[in-house]
Amino acid sequence: MKKLFKLGLLALTVMALMIAAVGCGGGEEPATTDGEDTTETLTVAFEPTFAPFESTDENGEFVGFDIDLINAIAEAQDMKIELKSLGFDGLIPALQSAQIDIAISGMTIKPEREEKVDFSVPYYEAGLIMAVSEDNNEITKPEDLAGKTIAVQIGTTGANKAQEYKEQYGAKVKTFNTTDLVFMELVNGGADVVINDKPVTKNYIETRGEGKVKMVGDLLEGEYYGIAVTEGNTELLEKINEGLNKVKENGKFGELYKEWFGITPPEYLPGNPS
Ligand code: GLN
Repeated sequence: MKKLFKLGLLALTVMALMIAAVGCGGGEEPATTDGEDTTETLTVAFEPTFAPFESTDENGEFVGFDIDLINAIAEAQDMKIELKSLGFDGLIPALQSAQIDIAISGMTIKPEREEKVDFSVPYYEAGLIMAVSEDNNEITKPEDLAGKTIAVQIGTTGANKAQEYKEQYGAKVKTFNTTDLVFMELVNGGADVVINDKPVTKNYIETRGEGKVKMVGDLLEGEYYGIAVTEGNTELLEKINEGLNKVKENGKFGELYKEWFGITPPEYLPGNPS
Protein backbone atom coordinates (compact mmCIF):
# COMPACT_ATOMS: atom_id res chain seq x y z
CA MET A 1 0.00 0.00 0.00
CA LYS A 2 2.73 2.41 1.03
CA LYS A 3 4.75 1.42 -2.05
CA LEU A 4 1.80 2.04 -4.34
CA PHE A 5 1.32 5.51 -2.81
CA LYS A 6 4.96 6.38 -3.43
CA LEU A 7 4.70 5.19 -7.02
CA GLY A 8 1.60 7.31 -7.57
CA LEU A 9 3.37 10.36 -6.14
CA LEU A 10 6.29 9.80 -8.48
CA ALA A 11 3.98 9.54 -11.48
CA LEU A 12 2.24 12.77 -10.47
CA THR A 13 5.55 14.56 -10.06
CA VAL A 14 6.72 13.43 -13.49
CA MET A 15 3.44 14.58 -15.05
CA ALA A 16 3.66 17.96 -13.33
CA LEU A 17 7.19 18.44 -14.60
CA MET A 18 6.14 17.55 -18.14
CA ILE A 19 3.26 20.03 -18.05
CA ALA A 20 5.59 22.71 -16.73
CA ALA A 21 8.06 22.03 -19.53
CA VAL A 22 5.38 22.21 -22.22
CA GLY A 23 3.99 25.38 -20.65
CA CYS A 24 7.37 27.05 -20.81
CA GLY A 25 7.82 26.20 -24.47
CA GLY A 26 4.78 28.28 -25.35
CA GLY A 27 6.45 31.67 -24.83
CA GLU A 28 7.73 33.55 -27.90
CA GLU A 29 10.77 35.02 -26.19
CA PRO A 30 13.73 32.66 -26.12
CA ALA A 31 15.12 32.24 -22.63
CA THR A 32 18.15 34.39 -22.00
CA THR A 33 21.26 32.45 -21.22
CA ASP A 34 24.34 33.97 -19.67
CA GLY A 35 26.56 35.74 -22.18
CA GLU A 36 23.99 35.61 -24.96
CA ASP A 37 23.68 38.86 -26.92
CA THR A 38 20.08 40.01 -26.76
CA THR A 39 20.54 43.52 -28.27
CA GLU A 40 17.95 43.99 -30.97
CA THR A 41 19.14 44.64 -34.47
CA LEU A 42 18.09 48.05 -35.78
CA THR A 43 17.21 48.41 -39.43
CA VAL A 44 18.86 51.40 -41.09
CA ALA A 45 17.45 52.37 -44.49
CA PHE A 46 18.51 54.71 -47.31
CA GLU A 47 18.17 55.21 -51.06
CA PRO A 48 21.55 54.19 -52.52
CA THR A 49 21.99 56.41 -55.60
CA PHE A 50 23.19 59.41 -53.65
CA ALA A 51 26.98 59.34 -53.70
CA PRO A 52 29.02 60.37 -51.78
CA PHE A 53 26.44 59.80 -49.03
CA GLU A 54 25.19 56.36 -50.05
CA SER A 55 25.80 54.25 -53.12
CA THR A 56 26.60 50.68 -54.10
CA ASP A 57 30.18 49.78 -55.02
CA GLU A 58 31.31 47.29 -57.69
CA ASN A 59 31.03 44.44 -55.16
CA GLY A 60 27.44 45.31 -54.34
CA GLU A 61 28.40 46.77 -50.93
CA PHE A 62 26.76 49.92 -49.63
CA VAL A 63 29.33 52.68 -49.24
CA GLY A 64 29.38 56.39 -48.43
CA PHE A 65 29.63 59.00 -45.73
CA ASP A 66 26.19 58.15 -44.29
CA ILE A 67 27.03 54.44 -44.18
CA ASP A 68 30.34 55.08 -42.39
CA LEU A 69 28.71 57.59 -40.05
CA ILE A 70 25.90 55.29 -38.92
CA ASN A 71 28.40 52.46 -38.43
CA ALA A 72 30.58 54.75 -36.31
CA ILE A 73 27.56 55.78 -34.22
CA ALA A 74 26.53 52.13 -33.81
CA GLU A 75 30.04 51.26 -32.67
CA ALA A 76 30.19 54.14 -30.20
CA GLN A 77 26.77 53.27 -28.78
CA ASP A 78 26.84 49.46 -28.87
CA MET A 79 24.00 49.30 -31.36
CA LYS A 80 23.56 46.39 -33.76
CA ILE A 81 22.45 47.56 -37.19
CA GLU A 82 21.54 46.07 -40.55
CA LEU A 83 21.45 48.08 -43.76
CA LYS A 84 18.47 48.19 -46.09
CA SER A 85 17.94 49.85 -49.45
CA LEU A 86 14.58 51.59 -50.04
CA GLY A 87 13.08 54.16 -52.39
CA PHE A 88 13.61 57.68 -51.07
CA ASP A 89 9.86 58.34 -50.97
CA GLY A 90 9.42 55.08 -48.99
CA LEU A 91 11.70 56.05 -46.11
CA ILE A 92 9.31 58.22 -44.08
CA PRO A 93 6.34 55.82 -44.51
CA ALA A 94 8.62 52.94 -43.44
CA LEU A 95 9.58 54.86 -40.29
CA GLN A 96 5.94 55.69 -39.60
CA SER A 97 4.90 52.05 -39.84
CA ALA A 98 7.99 51.01 -37.83
CA GLN A 99 9.22 48.75 -40.67
CA ILE A 100 12.62 50.36 -40.22
CA ASP A 101 14.19 52.03 -37.18
CA ILE A 102 16.49 54.61 -38.71
CA ALA A 103 16.73 56.50 -42.02
CA ILE A 104 20.05 58.08 -43.01
CA SER A 105 19.85 59.16 -46.62
CA GLY A 106 21.08 62.69 -47.11
CA MET A 107 17.66 63.57 -45.76
CA THR A 108 16.91 67.26 -45.29
CA ILE A 109 15.40 68.31 -41.99
CA LYS A 110 12.26 70.24 -42.82
CA PRO A 111 9.06 71.18 -40.98
CA GLU A 112 6.68 68.97 -43.03
CA ARG A 113 8.87 65.95 -42.29
CA GLU A 114 9.26 66.87 -38.62
CA GLU A 115 5.51 66.35 -38.27
CA LYS A 116 5.95 62.71 -39.32
CA VAL A 117 9.35 61.64 -37.97
CA ASP A 118 11.95 62.84 -35.48
CA PHE A 119 15.35 64.12 -36.61
CA SER A 120 18.75 64.08 -34.96
CA VAL A 121 20.82 67.25 -34.76
CA PRO A 122 22.16 68.29 -38.19
CA TYR A 123 25.26 66.43 -39.41
CA TYR A 124 25.73 68.05 -42.83
CA GLU A 125 25.00 71.38 -44.48
CA ALA A 126 23.86 71.08 -48.10
CA GLY A 127 21.66 72.99 -50.51
CA LEU A 128 19.91 72.69 -53.86
CA ILE A 129 21.58 73.62 -57.13
CA MET A 130 20.66 73.49 -60.82
CA ALA A 131 22.69 71.48 -63.31
CA VAL A 132 22.44 71.59 -67.11
CA SER A 133 24.23 70.07 -70.10
CA GLU A 134 27.71 71.46 -70.65
CA ASP A 135 26.63 73.21 -73.90
CA ASN A 136 23.49 74.81 -72.43
CA ASN A 137 23.91 78.57 -71.93
CA GLU A 138 20.23 79.42 -71.64
CA ILE A 139 19.65 78.55 -68.01
CA THR A 140 21.48 80.35 -65.24
CA LYS A 141 18.66 81.30 -62.88
CA PRO A 142 15.15 80.08 -61.92
CA GLU A 143 13.45 82.70 -64.15
CA ASP A 144 15.01 80.97 -67.16
CA LEU A 145 12.98 77.85 -66.49
CA ALA A 146 9.81 78.95 -68.32
CA GLY A 147 8.81 76.10 -70.64
CA LYS A 148 11.88 74.06 -69.65
CA THR A 149 11.82 70.49 -68.35
CA ILE A 150 13.24 69.83 -64.90
CA ALA A 151 14.27 66.29 -63.85
CA VAL A 152 14.10 65.43 -60.14
CA GLN A 153 14.06 62.48 -57.76
CA ILE A 154 10.69 61.58 -56.27
CA GLY A 155 9.91 62.79 -52.76
CA THR A 156 12.93 65.07 -52.48
CA THR A 157 13.34 68.73 -51.68
CA GLY A 158 14.57 69.11 -55.28
CA ALA A 159 11.19 67.79 -56.45
CA ASN A 160 9.42 70.34 -54.21
CA LYS A 161 11.51 73.16 -55.63
CA ALA A 162 10.75 72.03 -59.19
CA GLN A 163 7.04 72.02 -58.37
CA GLU A 164 7.40 75.60 -57.13
CA TYR A 165 9.07 76.64 -60.41
CA LYS A 166 6.38 74.84 -62.37
CA GLU A 167 3.75 77.02 -60.72
CA GLN A 168 5.85 80.18 -60.73
CA TYR A 169 7.50 80.04 -64.16
CA GLY A 170 5.59 77.39 -66.09
CA ALA A 171 8.37 74.82 -66.05
CA LYS A 172 7.65 71.12 -66.67
CA VAL A 173 8.65 68.47 -64.17
CA LYS A 174 9.77 64.86 -64.76
CA THR A 175 10.09 62.70 -61.66
CA PHE A 176 12.32 59.62 -61.31
CA ASN A 177 12.89 57.00 -58.63
CA THR A 178 16.65 57.34 -58.41
CA THR A 179 19.22 60.09 -58.81
CA ASP A 180 21.02 57.96 -61.42
CA LEU A 181 17.92 58.08 -63.63
CA VAL A 182 17.59 61.83 -63.09
CA PHE A 183 21.07 62.50 -64.48
CA MET A 184 20.61 59.97 -67.26
CA GLU A 185 17.55 61.92 -68.41
CA LEU A 186 19.57 65.14 -68.52
CA VAL A 187 22.47 63.55 -70.43
CA ASN A 188 20.05 61.89 -72.88
CA GLY A 189 18.37 65.21 -73.60
CA GLY A 190 15.01 64.32 -72.04
CA ALA A 191 15.33 67.18 -69.56
CA ASP A 192 16.92 70.65 -69.66
CA VAL A 193 17.88 70.88 -66.04
CA VAL A 194 18.30 68.83 -62.87
CA ILE A 195 17.53 70.23 -59.42
CA ASN A 196 19.39 68.23 -56.79
CA ASP A 197 21.57 68.52 -53.72
CA LYS A 198 24.84 70.28 -54.55
CA PRO A 199 27.32 67.81 -52.97
CA VAL A 200 25.70 64.94 -54.90
CA THR A 201 25.55 66.79 -58.20
CA LYS A 202 29.18 67.83 -57.71
CA ASN A 203 30.12 64.20 -57.08
CA TYR A 204 28.19 63.07 -60.16
CA ILE A 205 30.02 65.57 -62.37
CA GLU A 206 33.40 64.57 -60.96
CA THR A 207 32.83 60.83 -61.29
CA ARG A 208 30.57 60.41 -64.33
CA GLY A 209 29.47 63.71 -65.81
CA GLU A 210 32.78 65.39 -66.58
CA GLY A 211 32.46 67.37 -69.83
CA LYS A 212 28.76 66.57 -70.05
CA VAL A 213 27.10 68.34 -67.14
CA LYS A 214 27.76 71.61 -65.28
CA MET A 215 26.26 73.36 -62.28
CA VAL A 216 24.70 76.78 -62.81
CA GLY A 217 23.45 79.65 -60.66
CA ASP A 218 23.37 80.17 -56.91
CA LEU A 219 22.25 77.76 -54.22
CA LEU A 220 18.43 77.68 -54.48
CA GLU A 221 18.00 76.72 -50.86
CA GLY A 222 20.22 75.94 -47.88
CA GLU A 223 19.51 72.66 -46.12
CA TYR A 224 20.70 70.51 -43.23
CA TYR A 225 20.74 66.73 -43.19
CA GLY A 226 19.55 64.79 -40.16
CA ILE A 227 19.14 61.15 -39.18
CA ALA A 228 15.45 60.26 -38.84
CA VAL A 229 13.70 57.85 -36.46
CA THR A 230 10.08 56.94 -35.88
CA GLU A 231 8.23 59.82 -34.24
CA GLY A 232 8.26 59.47 -30.47
CA ASN A 233 11.18 57.04 -30.32
CA THR A 234 13.07 59.40 -28.03
CA GLU A 235 15.22 56.63 -26.57
CA LEU A 236 16.73 55.82 -29.96
CA LEU A 237 16.95 59.48 -30.95
CA GLU A 238 18.90 60.29 -27.79
CA LYS A 239 21.19 57.36 -28.45
CA ILE A 240 21.88 58.67 -31.95
CA ASN A 241 22.44 62.26 -30.83
CA GLU A 242 24.73 61.07 -28.06
CA GLY A 243 26.52 58.89 -30.64
CA LEU A 244 26.95 61.87 -32.96
CA ASN A 245 28.45 63.80 -30.09
CA LYS A 246 30.82 60.95 -29.23
CA VAL A 247 32.11 60.58 -32.81
CA LYS A 248 32.56 64.34 -32.97
CA GLU A 249 34.57 64.31 -29.71
CA ASN A 250 36.70 61.30 -30.58
CA GLY A 251 37.62 62.71 -33.99
CA LYS A 252 35.91 59.97 -36.02
CA PHE A 253 33.40 62.39 -37.56
CA GLY A 254 36.16 64.71 -38.75
CA GLU A 255 38.09 61.75 -40.13
CA LEU A 256 35.12 60.48 -42.16
CA TYR A 257 34.20 63.98 -43.32
CA LYS A 258 37.74 64.50 -44.56
CA GLU A 259 37.75 61.12 -46.25
CA TRP A 260 34.51 61.70 -48.19
CA PHE A 261 34.56 65.47 -48.77
CA GLY A 262 38.26 66.26 -48.66
CA ILE A 263 37.89 69.01 -46.06
CA THR A 264 37.47 69.42 -42.31
CA PRO A 265 33.86 69.84 -41.17
CA PRO A 266 32.59 73.19 -39.90
CA GLU A 267 33.15 73.54 -36.14
CA TYR A 268 29.46 73.24 -35.20
CA LEU A 269 28.79 69.95 -37.01
CA PRO A 270 27.27 67.66 -35.92
CA GLY A 271 25.01 69.99 -33.96
CA ASN A 272 22.85 73.03 -34.43
CA PRO A 273 24.39 76.08 -36.07
CA SER A 274 24.21 78.92 -33.56
N1 GLN B 1 18.21 66.13 -49.40
C1 GLN B 1 17.13 65.83 -50.30
C2 GLN B 1 15.89 65.55 -49.50
O1 GLN B 1 15.95 65.30 -48.35
C3 GLN B 1 17.45 64.67 -51.23
C4 GLN B 1 17.75 63.40 -50.54
C5 GLN B 1 17.98 62.20 -51.44
O2 GLN B 1 17.66 62.20 -52.61
N2 GLN B 1 18.54 61.17 -50.90
O3 GLN B 1 14.81 65.58 -50.03
